[in-house]
Amino acid sequence: MMTPPSGTERLSLAVAGLDAPVAVRRSARARRLSLRVDPRTGGATLVAPPQVPAEDLRRFVSRHRDWLTERLAAVPGRLPFADGAVIPFLGEPHCIRHVPQQERPVLRQDGELRVSGRSDHLARRVADFLKAEAARRLSALAHDKAARLGLRPARIAVRDTRSRWGSCSGTGRLNFSWRLILAPEPVVDYVVAHEVAHLKEMNHSPRFWRLVAQLTPAMEEGRAWLRSHGAALHRYGPGRGDGHAG
Ligand SMILES: [Zn+2]
Repeated sequence: MMTPPSGTERLSLAVAGLDAPVAVRRSARARRLSLRVDPRTGGATLVAPPQVPAEDLRRFVSRHRDWLTERLAAVPGRLPFADGAVIPFLGEPHCIRHVPQQERPVLRQDGELRVSGRSDHLARRVADFLKAEAARRLSALAHDKAARLGLRPARIAVRDTRSRWGSCSGTGRLNFSWRLILAPEPVVDYVVAHEVAHLKEMNHSPRFWRLVAQLTPAMEEGRAWLRSHGAALHRYGPGRGDGHAG
């Protein structure tokens, strides 16, 4: 889940006229070169058959520089956690405010996230707060829903997953993306119900979906919301490659 797709080389192409390097992924199944831009992150990837020499890759990217530049410009900008930024918390807009003298690290009140301490620690404090809130709420919901099935999750963890909102392992471990705390409550409820239902049904059969519907009133609403707004949740806070700076 967190590992890059197999065959991704650490090699990246710096191409004149482009701000960001292009990652190269070698694929035995690729018949030709193809360029992709991830609409969530603005990352560009070149998929190439194994034998194509690096020089050809560079030439290919150069030739498609205009197309690439256009695509990269169309990716909505990131919204870092900063003083004055507005981010959703359970779907409700909250303004981040730097309050240096405040006692608690982060206080959520009246549509604000008030953050104390040094300004260069602000982004990290907001991220820590959101992750802790996500862990607390998702874990309580998951235990509650699992209990309705007479089950107990083996472990519940919150991570910065890119490709999925949640997952359930064969041994009953549940993982969730901390970014779910940004989504409206019915969406959170649906994702938890989905993964908890996998504790009983490790498939997406009609029986599985009936079970999800028993565990949440928001199945259709949650699925529809994630389809149309899910990707936008990746705009907030630290992006790929930002690591834990700040
Ligand atoms: Zn599933």
